[in-house]
Amino acid sequence: MLMQRLHVCAAIILCIARARLSFENQTVDNNVTKSESNDLKSVLNLVGNVTESLDTAKPDEDHTQAQRNASEDGEQMNKETHGAKPDCPPLGLESLKVSDDQLESSSYLSVGLGPHRGRLNIQSGIEDDDEYDGAWCAGVEDQEQWLQLNALRPTLFTGVILQGRNSIWSLNWVRTYKVQFSNDSSVWQPCMNGSEEAVFVGNEDLETPVLALFPEPLVAQYIRINPQTWFSNGTICLRAEVLGCPVPDPDSQHFSESESGSLDDLDFRHHNYNEMRKLMKSVNDECPNITRIYTIGRSYTGLKLYVMEISDNPGKHELGEPEFRYVAGMHGNEVLGRELLLNLMQYICRGYNRGNQRIVQLVKDTRIHLLPSMNPDGYETAYEKGSELSGWALGRYSFEGIDMNHNFPDLNNIMWDAQELAMDKKRVAPETRAVISWMQDIPFVLSANLHGGELVVTYPFDCTRDWIPRQDTPTADNDFFRWLATVYASTNLVMANPERRICHSEDFQQHNNIINGADWHTVPGSMNDFSYLHTNCFEITVELSCDKFPHVSELPIEWENNKESLLLYMEQVHRGIKGVIRDKDTRAGIANAVIKVDGLGHDIRSAVDGDYWRLLNPGEYKITVWAEGYFPRIRHCSVGSEPHATICDFTLTKTSQDRLKQILASGGKIPRDNQVRIRAMRMRKLRASTKILNHRREQQQRLNKVKRK
Ligand SMILES: [Zn+2]
Repeated sequence: MLMQRLHVCAAIILCIARARLSFENQTVDNNVTKSESNDLKSVLNLVGNVTESLDTAKPDEDHTQAQRNASEDGEQMNKETHGAKPDCPPLGLESLKVSDDQLESSSYLSVGLGPHRGRLNIQSGIEDDDEYDGAWCAGVEDQEQWLQLNALRPTLFTGVILQGRNSIWSLNWVRTYKVQFSNDSSVWQPCMNGSEEAVFVGNEDLETPVLALFPEPLVAQYIRINPQTWFSNGTICLRAEVLGCPVPDPDSQHFSESESGSLDDLDFRHHNYNEMRKLMKSVNDECPNITRIYTIGRSYTGLKLYVMEISDNPGKHELGEPEFRYVAGMHGNEVLGRELLLNLMQYICRGYNRGNQRIVQLVKDTRIHLLPSMNPDGYETAYEKGSELSGWALGRYSFEGIDMNHNFPDLNNIMWDAQELAMDKKRVAPETRAVISWMQDIPFVLSANLHGGELVVTYPFDCTRDWIPRQDTPTADNDFFRWLATVYASTNLVMANPERRICHSEDFQQHNNIINGADWHTVPGSMNDFSYLHTNCFEITVELSCDKFPHVSELPIEWENNKESLLLYMEQVHRGIKGVIRDKDTRAGIANAVIKVDGLGHDIRSAVDGDYWRLLNPGEYKITVWAEGYFPRIRHCSVGSEPHATICDFTLTKTSQDRLKQILASGGKIPRDNQVRIRAMRMRKLRASTKILNHRREQQQRLNKVKRK
């Protein structure tokens, strides 16, 4: 539904027809001339050009010069800024860089519709009229209403992005508006277009962000957005972002510190598909001995799903070495994870080359797989619109409109209802299929799925029982999952900041920024649940930032916010117990042996070489291991608090088929048909292993029969 609402709507600057302003090239001038003859198409082209330049914004030396001149002399400013590329970044209403007390308004309809809610892409709670509504709405309906931003220092204001109210119950948006500037918030100067006051075109729907660039940018400290007309069946409501370049102020201590964000020399920008490939290639060239690029499949439109492997022996699984993965960009418009993974591969490569001990250790002991873009089709759609104009949902879904986080076989419901619900009927996206077979090919132990649009870490289950909208639905490994989530949340610099403002309508800080996925909102068919129920891999979801598509200027600081969390989380793969399960006589590893922890209803299976990993919190554990054709073995293993796994090897003695059957008949460990129902709750994992494991078992049995014959 959201997709339909988000039809393409370009910004039109009403007054542009008369604008003497030339932006950057001849094409633009032509467009302006044509638009004088009311050629709307040309105006749209012009806006298209401008939109592009916004997205590819780079630090611009000339601009700083223009600002200096501007602040010295108002007359001078117009000359200097004419022809300047309007590429000032958003001041941060969306990213929350602008604080609530920097926003004021002439009036407001209710507390939940106050000026602090007038932020681009802010999301309302489920009901209207609560504390967290979806816009600023004026309390009075006339043309004197305004939303005001105090930029706290002289700023060259270059434009505004406007959006309607986020609501499923009411329709409110502003159609046209004026803009005023002030240095002291008492004397106001209108935004001009030549000799006339500029009037800008705002919205025609609730969600599409519309950009307007000022014909005559101005340096000031305050800016007001002043609605003139609005949707006739609604009232004055808007969400906004303001574009501006802060003017350096040598006298102000507050702003004298460098704000660039990171000292790491990484490629901080948004990488589209081709740029991402190039960057991955360059990392591979820089670190050929520890990296390998491979693909796990293709998107619907044929873009490849690239993975960067990092290991001291790329391309091979080493006995006993755990496998880790990060997956980003499952929702194509939640782009921060993609950039963080590109940063991370560069950072690990360079750290390794420089001999950084922590990185060297990590690379030697772990096989790391980074998938920066699970939904490259969706990403390209969002990227085209750019960080400010892609809205809230554009690019979230696959090309076919599939939400991949609802697209994995829904094992929870199979498990709980003991029947295969819509699993076979469901259309599975090629991207989802690719990831599923990747999860089956590699014995992953730990993973995180990187999303955006909130600041919280969620752990499975993501799906409630019986279709309840939200309910705490823990796994058997709840304690360890809470540990994992806490590791990320408590080291992420934004989440860990007790002063931070909530993103939209939910206060996750009261839960230390972690929550059971199903307790937030139920998601049937999530990747986390599939991973836990169908494979040995524990996976959590990280919601990385309030803003799904942060402006390029935010990327260095976002890297710093997440760097330690990303590294520390990977290191958690070395917790619990691990070992190799071998045949006593041949010493060969035994694949597919079951590792059961007494008191925990979730079993792990050994990998092809007989090695296994069982993530556990510190404590004493009774471990039972069995495999088809062997006597079960029990060992006691203890896990300490140090971040390396306790080695717990097992050697199993072969038994005759008859002997095994006897053990099973006397209430042994392997569930048979009749025991399945009785033990349903305790043996969740085994039952949930569904089709493929059953299928494998059948194949194995058939093979055994063939061999016996
Ligand atoms: Zn998401």
